[in-house]
Amino acid sequence: MSVPQQDLEILARAVLDRLEAVEPPCVRRLLLAQLNVVAKLLQLEASGADELAAETGVVALVEECRDGRLRELDADRGLGTLGIEWQEVVLRVAHRLAQDRRAATCRCSRCGASTYEVTHRGGRRRPPGRHFRRIGTGDLYRARRCSACGLVQPPHGR
Ligand SMILES: [Zn+2]
Repeated sequence: MSVPQQDLEILARAVLDRLEAVEPPCVRRLLLAQLNVVAKLLQLEASGADELAAETGVVALVEECRDGRLRELDADRGLGTLGIEWQEVVLRVAHRLAQDRRAATCRCSRCGASTYEVTHRGGRRRPPGRHFRRIGTGDLYRARRCSACGLVQPPHGR
């Protein structure tokens, strides 16, 4: 990983840590939602992203984490961190949050182990569990099974 990418990664991690530490949880969820909206606007290159980010404190949050990071760095490395746009940080943070959400849905709700996809070709037979979901209009059903305890859960995105 090149140094600028690494700096971006570290800065994004710092923002995530800061967000996770926000109390109470309702304020944390609000901040996360605001950051996700700003990221979405940036992705769409929609106008208003800058204003919203400034008003909601998203820019301030990034700058606060940048300041914290700069205090830990020597001048050369600090320059790389200074050169990162807050927009890049917001996009990276939103990307990480989305990854975390996806990873969470892949986990068994009973024991937390990883799950794998199982399919069932229906024919005239009913699927072997109530969590199987029909794929499209065919006779294919899908669910997830825990690799550790065997619990069957609905497939992704349900
Ligand atoms: Zn399990």
